Amino acid sequence: MATGVRLDLDGRPIKPMTICMIGAGGFIGSHLCEKLMAETPHKVLALDVYNDKIKHLLEPDSLPWADRIQFHRLNIKNDSRLEGLIKMADLTINLAAICTPADYNTRPLDTIYSNFIDALPVVKYCSENNKRLIHFSTCEVYGKTIGSFLPKDSPLRQDPAYYVLTEDASPCIFGSIEKQRWSYACAKQLIERLIYAEGAENGLEFTIVRPFNWIGPRMDFIPGIDGPSEGVPRVLACFSNNLLRHEPLKLVDGGQSQRTFVYIKDAIEAVLLMIENPARANGQIFNVGNPHNEVTVKQLAEMMTEVYAKVSGEPSLEVPTIDVSSKEFYGEGYDDSDKRIPDMTIINRQLGWNPKTSLWDLLESTLTYQHRTYAEAIKKAMAKSVAS
Ligand code: NAD
Ligand code: UDP
Repeated sequence: MATGVRLDLDGRPIKPMTICMIGAGGFIGSHLCEKLMAETPHKVLALDVYNDKIKHLLEPDSLPWADRIQFHRLNIKNDSRLEGLIKMADLTINLAAICTPADYNTRPLDTIYSNFIDALPVVKYCSENNKRLIHFSTCEVYGKTIGSFLPKDSPLRQDPAYYVLTEDASPCIFGSIEKQRWSYACAKQLIERLIYAEGAENGLEFTIVRPFNWIGPRMDFIPGIDGPSEGVPRVLACFSNNLLRHEPLKLVDGGQSQRTFVYIKDAIEAVLLMIENPARANGQIFNVGNPHNEVTVKQLAEMMTEVYAKVSGEPSLEVPTIDVSSKEFYGEGYDDSDKRIPDMTIINRQLGWNPKTSLWDLLESTLTYQHRTYAEAIKKAMAKSVAS
């Protein structure tokens, strides 16, 4: 831990706090725990059903932060310890969610329960006990851009007013109910509205975070290695899996959708600013993304192929990508966000935060990690399946 008094953005000393982090064992939670242990004096009550991604922070007991992190294995759906843990903390951060698109149209009930019903007690306990809440929502609450409804050749499609996503001005535009893809976005939107209303009517101190495709090491799982062999993770892990197995990357509906990707380590800096500057973060909804790292999914596939060849020393495939229909890949009821450019005005004004890492650089460090972590295991798994 860094020595010396930590100061907030207004020059006031930051008091050490206890944070109840729900979903601490996931991708974002693991990076946030790492940051809090390495750079701050804060304590973390880490709640999750799994702890594989934070094992390195929990053991051995001789770690310098051993007395500042405590893991509680629990499912917030049905565990009476939840309220007590929220009461013990100064701040609750809720990351728990089903948040892989392959689940939204195939397990819509689980998705809605996880993102809305299961989050309700967390909001209620924070409100009743006057505890601050940082709730993780998603950029997906914006749904589709206004521009996507314009004629294909309309020059207005190039006008930022028709596609930049702004926290306090852009509408939330989802597809029809049959397009069950939007079950996640809709559940997240309703929990945002509930939290906002708790703030307005009951004085809940809250911050809502809308992540725009945060990526980096430990995101999701590699099918058949550290996850279910049938599961479909988010695009970084899907493409990493293809690259590790030397198979073409699958472009859903031609890979024409656009995304902006931000490096997890940049994004975690923003979350730490929110944690340590409550006066600037309370009552706010923040986009957290990198508007400069925009690509189509096809361009992402091409860049990942190039970066992987560099970091692994292995030649790229002659045909690096193949097209696949969304129905074949995700099943009935899939739909997509066309474009996601975050407006950064509010987070700049309140917290002075800006992302730093370019897409190439973040892919280089992430794919170096993927290669180092999985290449041997994949080789063994592939050799075994050929032999059997
Ligand atoms: P993740 O799946 O890696 O982490 C979520 C964690 O919550 C998992 O460890 C899971 O075990 C845990 N969890 C889920 N249900 C639980 C329950 N009932 N009880 C206890 N633990 C439970 O996902 P992530 O990428 O770290 O995302 C964290 C949050 O950020 C989610 O709310 C997600 O919707 C939001 N988000 C993330 C991104 C991104 O780019 N990674 C984008 C948009 C939104
Ligand atoms: N995608 C793809 N191939 C894959 C996995 C995902 O073309 O193997 C596409 C998906 O259709 C979407 C984008 O990549 O357009 C990003 O998908 P992700 O799962 O990361 O989540 P999203 O950004 O949609 O929330």
